[in-house]
Amino acid sequence: MNTVSDLDQLRQGLQDWPTSLDWQPTPAQIAAFCQLYEDILSGNQRLNLTRITAPMEFLEKHLWDSMAGILLCPACRQLSGATVIDIGTGGGFPGLPIAMAWPQWRVTLLDSTRKKILFLEDLGYRLGLGNVDFVVDRAEGVGQQNQHREQYDLATIRAVGDGAVCAEYGLPLLKVGGILALYRGQWSPEEGDRLERVSQQLGGKVLDIIPAATPWTKAQRHFIYVIKEKPTPSEFPRAIGIPTQQPLTSSTALSS
Ligand code: SAM
Repeated sequence: MNTVSDLDQLRQGLQDWPTSLDWQPTPAQIAAFCQLYEDILSGNQRLNLTRITAPMEFLEKHLWDSMAGILLCPACRQLSGATVIDIGTGGGFPGLPIAMAWPQWRVTLLDSTRKKILFLEDLGYRLGLGNVDFVVDRAEGVGQQNQHREQYDLATIRAVGDGAVCAEYGLPLLKVGGILALYRGQWSPEEGDRLERVSQQLGGKVLDIIPAATPWTKAQRHFIYVIKEKPTPSEFPRAIGIPTQQPLTSSTALSS
């Protein structure tokens, strides 16, 4: 159980939210983020949801980071009434803060671990979120299902796999014109080149790569945005496990 002072510290940090993202949480969102923190810490005792539990670390690495991936992307900010999917959401990041900040968006939280999704379903109910759907499945599975394939305006993915794996999971789920937002720490030009080539094979194109420093500890982050320009060939995503066991490479992308 977190102490009252942890919660006070988080609340104060939320009230002092940095101006760099050109967005401020409302008092109602501050209260909701505090409740989210308490509930995640409580769920963490049973489930391995997150290693990030100190209040300021939670603020920076979960809340600020979740928001930054959207707020630093002009095309994402402009979306109205968007359908969003968070692939491999784990403890609900970045998808849950996104759903809390954009109530007019419909956000699907996807994870292959049933107990995490059951927890998030309960958490969403306690937070009174009416704009969230919950799916227990693999990204490779939902990417081939009509109710999910090519249905989303925005897909987010953080800490799930390398760029090629993220592209194979995410691009099939997007409508043409949709955006895949990759949340990364380090990012190299070589990774960028490879993602560009793999994205092409999947119908996408790298739109932007935005480096950022987190506001308090100045940790390095990169947000990579891939836009879907044409439908993804039906063979992608490949069967369960294949995208991680045999990630698409520049050469496989170019050879077909
Ligand atoms: N996105 C969260 C975050 O950044 O805090 C959780 C990251 S956690 C390291 C990776 C999550 O992805 C796990 O919860 C795991 O169950 C899920 N995952 C991994 N591969 C997946 C797949 N192919 N389809 C759906 N979920 C997957």
